[in-house]
Amino acid sequence: MRNIILFGAPGAGKGTQSAIIREKFDFAYISTGEILRAEIKAGTELGKQAEDLINKGELVSDEIIIGMIKSFIENNTTKDLLLDGFPRTVKQAEALDEILTSMQRGKAKVVELEVDKDVLMKRLLKRAEIEGRKDDNEETIRERFNQYDKKTAAVADYYKKKGDYIAIDGEHGTPQEISVKLIDILEKL
Ligand code: ADP
Repeated sequence: MRNIILFGAPGAGKGTQSAIIREKFDFAYISTGEILRAEIKAGTELGKQAEDLINKGELVSDEIIIGMIKSFIENNTTKDLLLDGFPRTVKQAEALDEILTSMQRGKAKVVELEVDKDVLMKRLLKRAEIEGRKDDNEETIRERFNQYDKKTAAVADYYKKKGDYIAIDGEHGTPQEISVKLIDILEKL
């Protein structure tokens, strides 16, 4: 079974590409960011814990996120997985490996959408006007980039070392054109 990690900095297009490729492949899909936003909206205990961190651009604790992913994987044993927004730290990546091994699911493969930081900032500020996400303001975006550089970029290296990493240009072309390249890669994985 395939375990695909769609990887990339904030604004790289993970959510957009996930929506397109899910029309073609029958993935069990999880976006940790989407779940956290739903928890905040519903006013749950988890939502309350996550809200301040997200609005500051910081990461939610590994323990919470790993618990969330573990139950998701345990509840979706028959389908290929598409992970969006996870893992975001090396600790999360190591925990994922353990879960996949214990579930006899094989390795995870990373596909990164590569986009220049200036372009990301422009995209996120534009998205702020359309979607009104509280964490899409310039100050918070800077902190999200900072967290990405400090904690998340190392996740790409972690999978590169294992030979389970591939990158595509996520910057040039329409979302549809980018999805063609992504689908081509997924068909070979
Ligand atoms: P983006 O990729 O555009 O930053 P997401 O929707 O994936 O947006 O995530 C929004 C926020 O949710 C992150 O800035 C972070 O605070 C929190 N979050 C999402 N996924 C994780 C994760 N795997 N680990 C820790 N925090 C997370």
